[in-house]
Amino acid sequence: METVTRIENENRKRHVLVVDDEIINRMILGNILQSEFDVFYASDGEEAWAFIQREYDHLSIILLDLLMPKIDGFELLKRLNGSKKYKSIPVIVLTSEKDAEIKSLQMGAVDFIPKPYEMPEVICARVKRSIKLAEENSLLNAVKNDSLTKLYNKEFFYQYALDQDRFHADQEMDMLVLNVNRFHIVNELYGHKTGDDLLRGIAESLRFFLRKNSGLACRCYSDTFYVYIAHRSDYDTLFPRFLAEVEKNSGLKDISIRIGVYENCDKQLTLDQRIDRAARACSSCRKTYKSSIAMFDNAQIEKDLLGEKLIHESERALREKQFQVHYQPKFNIEGEVPVFSSAEALIRWNHPEFGRISPGVFIPLFEENGLIQKLDNYVWNEAARQVNQWKKELGVRLPVSVNVSRVDMFDPKLEEELLGIIERNELSPDELLLEITESAYSDNSSALIEIVNKLRSDGFRIEMDDFGSGYSSLNMLSSMPIDILKLDMGFIRKMCDNEKNKQMVEIMMEIAKVLDVPVIAEGVETAEQYGALKDMGCNVIQGYYFSKPLPPEELEEMLLTRTAPASRINL
Ligand code: C2E
Ligand code: CA
Ligand code: CA
Repeated sequence: METVTRIENENRKRHVLVVDDEIINRMILGNILQSEFDVFYASDGEEAWAFIQREYDHLSIILLDLLMPKIDGFELLKRLNGSKKYKSIPVIVLTSEKDAEIKSLQMGAVDFIPKPYEMPEVICARVKRSIKLAEENSLLNAVKNDSLTKLYNKEFFYQYALDQDRFHADQEMDMLVLNVNRFHIVNELYGHKTGDDLLRGIAESLRFFLRKNSGLACRCYSDTFYVYIAHRSDYDTLFPRFLAEVEKNSGLKDISIRIGVYENCDKQLTLDQRIDRAARACSSCRKTYKSSIAMFDNAQIEKDLLGEKLIHESERALREKQFQVHYQPKFNIEGEVPVFSSAEALIRWNHPEFGRISPGVFIPLFEENGLIQKLDNYVWNEAARQVNQWKKELGVRLPVSVNVSRVDMFDPKLEEELLGIIERNELSPDELLLEITESAYSDNSSALIEIVNKLRSDGFRIEMDDFGSGYSSLNMLSSMPIDILKLDMGFIRKMCDNEKNKQMVEIMMEIAKVLDVPVIAEGVETAEQYGALKDMGCNVIQGYYFSKPLPPEELEEMLLTRTAPASRINL
């Protein structure tokens, strides 16, 4: 049963029910009130009760005598107060005894008028004031509460959450966002009544837990609820109990709810920002049929902010040459001694504030927003210029491979740009090798294969980067135009852990043999890995075992001798 909300028209004459068994009293009061109100009468509690049940919708106030036959005033007060429906009708008690006044106020009367009746203006004013107060209160409730769930609405939730912060500044608080998975489907499949039952069940369960743990909740819209609650660390155990409570209260089984929690809110943030964080945690829950709860990850926000900043600053960084190309040597290990045969160009960002930033951080960001093309272009030009400079100044020819991003591959000007770079730097295409990651092939293989074929016919050589991580089917592999396979570092890292892992690498070597292409193993860090790879017939090795990526000037000595550091040669 719902609490009645009365929103009144200012000018309407309010209905007053006078309940008194003495006709003379009824007449006196009627006289006093009738110019301002529509007055109705009942001569005992029973009559009054019947009238109230019939007319409560239009009734603004009850003036109630206490001592009456059948149902007396106290009994009527008790009935009214015990009923959600009639509780909001204000009652003024008509009495001549002090004790009864106190008792009736305790039982829910809003005021009393002492008998005998004197000063009609005062009586009229008291009745008016009580009606006004009750109407204001009811209006407030109507606005304050969501009519379906009776939880606060958003505005009041915000208001009270801020009050909570103000009055309990030291209390650590959690912000929660709760959402029903596939709520529209609940509505469509089972009807809106079931949907409403579910929402009411959630609200009831929130109230149940909040009563125990002092907190606030609101339904902000549709199937989304916010909760602001004193910090706790037992959500894992609380959540299943909460779900059971919702099932009990809604009468529904297998409900699916997700909750995001932003723990220990930073109170410097606005409520919207806190809610936003909880909402992000909430949307990180997988939208399955299962209920789930997720915590907001503070580290993630820092990562996101850093990402935003880096993207924002990238253009300037390019202009100010904060990016540098380093080169990691690749050693051919087919012969007795490893020979420094080529290098991979790897970008470095020397950020004025954050220092050296790993490409693992900014490359994925740039790939998302398209900046990667500009950056790669810069690296290709720079690498080609460097290869040419080494040729001219040191008289050595060192082919360098550059990374070509998936985004670059579908740029219609790619071929033209690469050919331009070769030409401007007086190189032949086989001096600038192209590394394309395996996963790019699986994305859109036929279009990619066409482009790669074109580049190969221009004389470029293609290395398939990160081989083994991109889920190429073996079937597809045979038709892929590649010149070199570069094993994914993950396999090398694990290869000496056990025999199985080692066999995986052997299998990939076999695949390369079938495809008739040489193999590069990258990420080689130990003598053990190097030895095993050499035994398996691996052709080229790149890794910290021989050298980290280095700035060009540090590479020059190695370039002149073409040999690896002495300690790495004689095993
Ligand atoms: P990648 O193309 O697979 O490059 C190899 C990465 O492995 C490099 O990391 C390299 O420094 C690292 N590495 C080499 N040997 C070892 C080793 O022995 N142990 C370990 N732990 N790591 C080793 P880096 O330079 O941080 O680059 C990471 C990724 O960023 C690259 O992976 C590549 O995907 C991307 N990247 C780097 N430079 C560029 C670029 O100019 N353009 C594009 N599109 N991507 C780039
Ligand atoms: Ca690479
Ligand atoms: Ca790689």
